[in-house]
Amino acid sequence: MNLFEDFGLSSPLQTAIKNLGFEKPTQIQSKSIPDIVKGKDVVGESPTGSGKTLAFGCGIVEHATPGNGLQALILTPTRELAEQVKVELSKLSHQKHLNVIAIYGGVSINPQIHDLSRANVVVATPGRLLDHLQRRTINTSKVKLLVLDEADRMFDMGFIDDVEKIIRTCPTKRQTLFFSATISSRVKDLANRYMDKPTIVLAGKHVDPSKLKQVYYNVPKNMKLSLLLHLFQYEKSKLIMVFCNTRRTTDFVVKNLRVNKIDAIAIHGGLSQNKRTRTIDIFNKGKMGVLVCTDVAARGLHIDNVSHIYNYEVPNDPNDYVHRIGRTARAGEEGKVINLLCEYDHDNFSRILHEHRSFTIDKIEIPQIKRVFAIKSDDSRRPFRRKQSFHRGGSRRRY
Ligand code: AMP
Repeated sequence: MNLFEDFGLSSPLQTAIKNLGFEKPTQIQSKSIPDIVKGKDVVGESPTGSGKTLAFGCGIVEHATPGNGLQALILTPTRELAEQVKVELSKLSHQKHLNVIAIYGGVSINPQIHDLSRANVVVATPGRLLDHLQRRTINTSKVKLLVLDEADRMFDMGFIDDVEKIIRTCPTKRQTLFFSATISSRVKDLANRYMDKPTIVLAGKHVDPSKLKQVYYNVPKNMKLSLLLHLFQYEKSKLIMVFCNTRRTTDFVVKNLRVNKIDAIAIHGGLSQNKRTRTIDIFNKGKMGVLVCTDVAARGLHIDNVSHIYNYEVPNDPNDYVHRIGRTARAGEEGKVINLLCEYDHDNFSRILHEHRSFTIDKIEIPQIKRVFAIKSDDSRRPFRRKQSFHRGGSRRRY
């Protein structure tokens, strides 16, 4: 089905979709909306940005009614994704006056308790939802539609036990939808246990390989920053994301970019919820050109117009590489992925090439570049501090 009109959706829903400005359904929408609105269970292989929120949103808007308590529950792995899904569902259900709220940790619980009493649709992260269940401030006994968004991430982030506890509080007679970037064996196993003869929908990769160019440079560790600055100058870019493996490298890179007069902002797990939301807003509005982030912090963020992905460090998990590169070359736009490899990155890089044999990643020789001397993360705040010999903050990597 190539038009939204073909789905036989109710007129408020069709109006809402038109108001959102979407002309044609995406692949996941074409393949899953007919079954979703019929009330069937669906497992959709669809990464962030493929249009899955609107796909399950159609089911929610068609089947939930205002004033009948909580009827649809969506579980997401991150607070950012919960917020984004809530915003999209609110727009979609505007004509139908459904009350949609997001609940997640890191913010006060009391306003959520108040909002829950009137909610028809709840988008939640598992930890905080469980907290509400234990306090009996949420009632899941009338949930007729349960959505697990980014199911593979729920496993990666260790949330799956909480997710299962939550699923078991919902009525057994319900519609269940799982969306996941990849349908791994663990996602299938979960589907076997909690779904009723689900339809499996594959939406294909959202990265168009013909539009995505991937390259790598072999560069000594102490020249990475210089190369990054050089490439910023010579590559024609829109928005740029620079991925690092740790919070510490993220801070280091941001600090040095700023010293070199590049408008860069950081996002990592150490920032408060408000600060993360503000940061993403600024980036999305195109006010800042460079977002430096870790994988965990970047999960679930919707950012359009990213022309360049720089891997300042190559991720340990090849799946993270796929998630990183999926941020660019979206919606028919061109994108480029640039890997800066030093000796510490080669093992991770080989693993990616081994797992994703279809990737073509071209080697580029380092051009003549100006050496830039980096400052360490805390140098600028305490310029005259003597180097301390005691243990600083433990050796655990924080993401
Ligand atoms: P997702 O995270 O998979 O829900 O993708 C959401 C993104 O896709 C948002 O930026 C939406 O505005 C966009 N989107 C959803 N449906 C469509 C559509 N039919 N056409 C164009 N963009 C869409």
